[in-house]
Amino acid sequence: MQNLTILGSTGSIGVNTLDVVAHHPDRFRVVALTAGNKVEVLFDQCRRFAPVYAVLRDENGAERLQSLVRKAGLVTQVLQGVGALEKVATLQEVNGVMAAIVGAAGLRPTLAAANAGKRVMLANKEALVMSGSLFMEAVRRNHATLLPVDSEHNAIFQALPRNFSGDLAAVGVKRILLTASGGPFCSTPLSELEHITPDQACAHPNWVMGRKISVDSATMMNKGLEVIEAHWLFNALENQIQVVIHQQSVIHSLVEYVDGSVIAQLGNPDMRTPIAYALAYPERIEAGVQSLDLFKIGTLNFQAPDLNRFPCLRLAYQALQRGEAAPAILNAANEVAVTHFLAQRMPYKHIPLLIEAVLEKMTVKAITSLDDVLEADRMARAFAEDWLAASRPGFAARVAP
Ligand code: NAD
Ligand code: MG
Repeated sequence: MQNLTILGSTGSIGVNTLDVVAHHPDRFRVVALTAGNKVEVLFDQCRRFAPVYAVLRDENGAERLQSLVRKAGLVTQVLQGVGALEKVATLQEVNGVMAAIVGAAGLRPTLAAANAGKRVMLANKEALVMSGSLFMEAVRRNHATLLPVDSEHNAIFQALPRNFSGDLAAVGVKRILLTASGGPFCSTPLSELEHITPDQACAHPNWVMGRKISVDSATMMNKGLEVIEAHWLFNALENQIQVVIHQQSVIHSLVEYVDGSVIAQLGNPDMRTPIAYALAYPERIEAGVQSLDLFKIGTLNFQAPDLNRFPCLRLAYQALQRGEAAPAILNAANEVAVTHFLAQRMPYKHIPLLIEAVLEKMTVKAITSLDDVLEADRMARAFAEDWLAASRPGFAARVAP
């Protein structure tokens, strides 16, 4: 029996995780669920899975959930705040932590789970992008098990030999081919990108996901973050990671070996496959996913990414090359940009401009502690808000420290 904490249980990954878990009551027990502000959804999940703990981001949400829980006569304890997220990610009785909060907000509990030596199932790529070596060191030092949930990294993990322990050359790997759908604007005329709305950016052709990652997929910042994620997960050099646009999203990534063999993992674009793999590893369990119908798919296409169309991908490669706090800065600037774009306060085409401006302006410092990461994140957000204020007169500026 695996006892689970699901961080971000009300999101797209969280809901899919609970769907797989619900099919295997003999294998999994839900100990803790957490959410940002979707009180009613979390309450519903509490009724279905009877967790010991439910955590909300703020006091207001926690009070509302507490009242619902009490009225329903549930035994779930309601907690609130980042400290509570860290608590439920490190409980002694928990062995598996699904890290599915979106963005930098997931860093502290995910890192805490690694420090507590848990089986960390990582969907929250931003946490790893921000903290890189610190995170991997926490995994190593505390004998945590790190299992990628991101479909591409899960595919690479599946295509690597079981004895892989961080040295690609030792297992004969030449390079990693990271597939990307190209998002909704892969062939949109560049002039039309001026007027993209949030709903257009979130209408992903193959995957149904949260809004932040959907925008990241449209700009291909998602792939940029995934290049950095692959660097840390598989100890791959930047020139060993090739992004390949593959619009059908059937091949989830490939590993090329020195003898010319290329091993790929295929499947329908359904996150329950990588989630089930991470949950049950090294075994395999039923995930409720439809069989892949190759006859219906017919053709698979591949093309090289165009960095003029997708400047965010270029910026991510540059941040990886620059190292130290640069990926944390990239991530923070992107989160600010996406938030403002989704709130219709900034045009789509300004997303890479803002990120580039922040990366150019900030001094990149070394990362030796969690505080260093949080400081880079905070500073980058302040710079990003300032850039926005300067680029849009009348935009309410936050005062930089
Ligand atoms: P989502 O927006 O659907 O869900 C995010 C979850 O995090 C929700 O439960 C939300 O309540 C919670 N949350 C948000 N802000 C919070 C905060 N400040 N404090 C505490 N909780 C907070 O996002 P998603 O699509 O499920 O993505 C989750 C993570 O998984 C992201 O890092 C994303 O990049 C990654 N991922 C998602 C997919 C996918 O198919 N959705 C695929 C690969 C990777
Ligand atoms: Mg992915």
